[in-house]
Amino acid sequence: MDLSYILNHLGEDRETYRGAVSPPIFQTSIFAFRDVASMRESFRDEFRRTTYTRGNNPTVEILRKKVAALEGSEDCLMFGSGAAAIAAAVIASVAAGDHVICVDKPYSWTRAVLRDLLARFGVTNTFIDGTDMANFEQALTPATKLIVLESPNSMTYEMQDLAAVARLARDRGIRTLCDNSYASPLNQSPIALGIDMVAHSATKYLNGHSDVVAGALCASEKIIREVFRGPYMTCGAVLSPHDAWLMIRGMRTLSIRMQRIAQTTRHVLHFLETHERIEKVYYPHATSNPQFGLAQEQMHGASGLLTIELRVDDVAGVERFCNALRRFLMTVSWGGYEALMFPVCAVAPAHAPIAGTGALPLSLVRLSIGLEEPDVLIADLAQALAAI
Ligand SMILES: *Cc1c(COP(=O)(O)O)cnc(C)c1O
Repeated sequence: MDLSYILNHLGEDRETYRGAVSPPIFQTSIFAFRDVASMRESFRDEFRRTTYTRGNNPTVEILRKKVAALEGSEDCLMFGSGAAAIAAAVIASVAAGDHVICVDKPYSWTRAVLRDLLARFGVTNTFIDGTDMANFEQALTPATKLIVLESPNSMTYEMQDLAAVARLARDRGIRTLCDNSYASPLNQSPIALGIDMVAHSATKYLNGHSDVVAGALCASEKIIREVFRGPYMTCGAVLSPHDAWLMIRGMRTLSIRMQRIAQTTRHVLHFLETHERIEKVYYPHATSNPQFGLAQEQMHGASGLLTIELRVDDVAGVERFCNALRRFLMTVSWGGYEALMFPVCAVAPAHAPIAGTGALPLSLVRLSIGLEEPDVLIADLAQALAAI
């Protein structure tokens, strides 16, 4: 199935919508039945039928088909956030007494699900440096049921060898989950590499317009049915029909957005790599990245999220840089049409030492490249670097 067919047509049964080119928003919580027999029939398979919008909704269903096709998975569930999709995948895969291995710098709320939530229910965990396969083997216990990956992560972009982890896990009957938000479905295909479940913060590249919070979970029909029966219906963190419609609309341009963003990021990277005020650039596809080879091999293309380490003496220097930027909006999140930046020092107290006290130095600033002209972004970065 070609990419433009998925984005433009898949799942859109236009004949049933009186030829409407853009699909209707089924803004309804409930679906009515003609007789008891058809209602009973619907309850027999709530996964496939439309009974209640916490389970199925036709507008959301169009989106599920598209995202599943993009990831090359049998099915997909959409959630009200990426965090909900990841939590559901984990909760559906473990029980008290089980053990989970997770990479050591995952998205903060992925860490919280394991360390803070499930630990209270008797699920143990080990966080490891996932850049070295030996660490996975060492962390295995007879109780290990799930391996949680995020490749690359969304701050310093450490990667895991997805095919190697999948082989290790499959041989032992361990399930694997990969957060694929950074790459988007276009730049990395974990399912094809043997990973069981792929999660997205669809808030980021998939929607791409900074106007919807959404999540996706892609897997085999067997796993998706299990998640549906379990945390999906139980916790009820569903995506609304209106937000699903916005996502379908946002995804029409996924392919050209990703192409444009990758191209602009190349120019910005080139400018940053040689600038005297930049200590280091973190980016999977930078030739200076020790995992550059793995990025080339495992990913189909580049995204537009990178992190710079400023050459500054104190946090005040970082603040001068950030406060001087005009075209990069200072926000959390990333992956929209507009350039964004996130200063790590904003999560530390003012006047903290530049080295930081956690895993990351406070001289880091994450940049999300948008659809702007490359020269505009480079000029903005140049004037802000001069303001340090
Ligand atoms: C944002 C993000 C999430 C969480 O997604 P939400 O849609 O904000 O809930 C998960 N993983 C990564 C890598 C993210 O960047």
